[in-house]
Amino acid sequence: MISSAKSSACFAEAKKYIPGGVNSPVRAFRSVGLDPRFIRKGKGSRIYDIDGNEYIDYVCSWGPCILGHAYPPVINAVKEVCENGLTFGAPTERETELARLIIEAVPAIDRVRLVSSGTEAVMSAIRVARGFTKRNKIIKFTGNYHGHSDGLLVKAGSGLLTESIPDSGGVPEGYVAYTLLADYNNEDSVKALFDAEKDDIAALIVEPVAANMGVVPPKPGFLEFLRDITEKNGSLLIFDEVITGFRLSYGGAGEYFGVKPDMVTLGKIVGGGMPLAAYGGRADVMGVIAPEGPVYQAGTLSGNPVAVTAGIETLKALKDNKELYESIDRKAAVLEKAFRDSGRTVNRVGSLLSAFFTDKEVTNYATALSSDTKAFASYFGRMLEEGIYVAPSQFEAMFVSAAHTDEDIERTAKAIQVCAK
Ligand SMILES: *Cc1c(COP(=O)(O)O)cnc(C)c1O
Repeated sequence: MISSAKSSACFAEAKKYIPGGVNSPVRAFRSVGLDPRFIRKGKGSRIYDIDGNEYIDYVCSWGPCILGHAYPPVINAVKEVCENGLTFGAPTERETELARLIIEAVPAIDRVRLVSSGTEAVMSAIRVARGFTKRNKIIKFTGNYHGHSDGLLVKAGSGLLTESIPDSGGVPEGYVAYTLLADYNNEDSVKALFDAEKDDIAALIVEPVAANMGVVPPKPGFLEFLRDITEKNGSLLIFDEVITGFRLSYGGAGEYFGVKPDMVTLGKIVGGGMPLAAYGGRADVMGVIAPEGPVYQAGTLSGNPVAVTAGIETLKALKDNKELYESIDRKAAVLEKAFRDSGRTVNRVGSLLSAFFTDKEVTNYATALSSDTKAFASYFGRMLEEGIYVAPSQFEAMFVSAAHTDEDIERTAKAIQVCAK
């Protein structure tokens, strides 16, 4: 039994000052019935808590740390840029450099805006889609998460699913009246909405690989179908690639599946661990944004030099790095096999995977919900005892990074065969 006494004491203290003791709900470990570990530092594939425990980390800050923790080129570049000031609220050359890198990487992005969180990227992309099409409604899928802006907090997966909150409090009905819900991987559910509302659907937003109800891949042809039906109806297709961007491939899911949306949102990896996200798309669509057009979107710290530098150095390490993508893919496949050998349902796309504690094939929100979360909690606790830190939720992905060594993966695969049985 490893000690977690210091973490528990810190958690008790934090709860006095911070709601739930955390600044983002899933961190509180509530669904697994444990106290969260307070992290002291990270290096490569490992994180270390304040009780002196070491873990192989598969949360990777929920995606950004694809190069592992404290990756030296990123840390050194950030240290250097900090010396010259953290923010100016005026343009810097690095913003253009990061924008150019993003546009060269992602086929669907002609022009791009930098913001500070995935939530902000998605919220802004939707405003732009509405401004461009002069329509009101959007379609989202149950179990897809697009950040915590009001209109998108319906059947939103991620932390809400973990905490069994179907729809957030504090969101007036009117705010979600323009949000239509479809069932992931179900073409008929999308057709029905377009039949009923076709002249008022500004955009359909989708996680091209759902990764916030556990990992759920799109069925073959599903993304192509979404491309087709949105185009026919004069609606925009938005790929929320906050997780998949720069992860499934350097060009993201759009490149990986060969489907070109009208707009793309990015976050997590694009900021290399700093608060940075982006939204972009067709030049004509992005042209409606102020000061060129009438759709307002702004940010005091948007594109600040520190976050931008972390993003640039991260993308440079990923660019043209086929080996890295092949390696994280291969390592994730070893973990996938370990889950399968333990009799678990498992979904994997590239370096993203989830095991589900259900006998069903998981293809959408309803089948993801059939998971036995008590069995998951027991698996989670046992993995933690083995020194392996996976997401404390059935409904989050396992992230493999370039820093995971073959030995890390072997040890994890062995632990899975014991803990996931
Ligand atoms: C994490 C996430 C977001 C929200 O990003 P934040 O930076 O947490 O605001 C949006 N969409 C998807 C698909 C995500 O995984």
